[in-house]
Amino acid sequence: MTEPPAKSHGRLSISASRSPRSLMDGPPRLKGAFTAKVLTLFPEAFPGVLGASLTGKALAEGLWALQPIDLRTFGLGPHRKVDDTPAGGGAGLVMRPDVLGPALEEAAVGTPADPARWPRLCLSPRGVPFTQDMARTFARAEGMTLLCGRFEGIDQRVIDHYGLMEVSLGDFVLTGGEIAAQAILDATVRLIPGVLGNFASTEEESFSDGLLEHPQYTQPREWQGREIPEVLLSGHHGRVAAWRRAEAERLTRERRPDLWRRRDDDSRD
Ligand code: SAH
Repeated sequence: MTEPPAKSHGRLSISASRSPRSLMDGPPRLKGAFTAKVLTLFPEAFPGVLGASLTGKALAEGLWALQPIDLRTFGLGPHRKVDDTPAGGGAGLVMRPDVLGPALEEAAVGTPADPARWPRLCLSPRGVPFTQDMARTFARAEGMTLLCGRFEGIDQRVIDHYGLMEVSLGDFVLTGGEIAAQAILDATVRLIPGVLGNFASTEEESFSDGLLEHPQYTQPREWQGREIPEVLLSGHHGRVAAWRRAEAERLTRERRPDLWRRRDDDSRD
């Protein structure tokens, strides 16, 4: 076994450059670390913004791992074709099931079939809107697989056959699933113990209690004629907590009546 292994199907080659991609190959992955497998036509888009700041540091330390899988390597024929015209006609191209299937099979190697232990997502504007609760659920898993669409989207049979969970970033249309995948991974990975360190609390932030967060202030005390609310400078923890709570409730009522109603409903259960 002196021969180096041939470039394996669907895996990125290890690059000697100091490009962001080397972040994904370099760090030793800690045993049992959360692993994200991302199926994409644009593996070079990863880790992208996930390579910066706290998620990037955690990635480099092996607190989580990222494995982009290049869909092009599963393409068919000499041109590695991944898409074709929509059945029934119309504009655009649809990603082929006989390309996505083998890619998903490869991503599944070594992962548990139980969706609670390993969620399998397909990014889609038709999906269930992503929430903080979903991020909390995903962060408890051993890892997850995310399939990024492009063009008009992907053949429905792939979603049905693999029972993919369709998840949307919101009511707008992106050109591809990569930004949505990075947003979902960012929200998920920061909840993995150790990733944020002491920098932030995930207990008091927006959505943690079904509320938006209260406004934040910092130095200087006065800026452009605007003062920090007096109560925050009082040093009185009880009054500060009460003010923050009242502000969180006011903002949630004003800006997100949907969240506010859900809290009412939940408290009646
Ligand atoms: N024709 C589709 C849109 C395709 S956009 C439709 O009308 O529903 C191409 C790809 O971008 C999608 O397959 C999906 O992976 C991704 N995408 C676009 N908008 C998205 C959103 N709001 N949330 C998550 N993924 C999205």
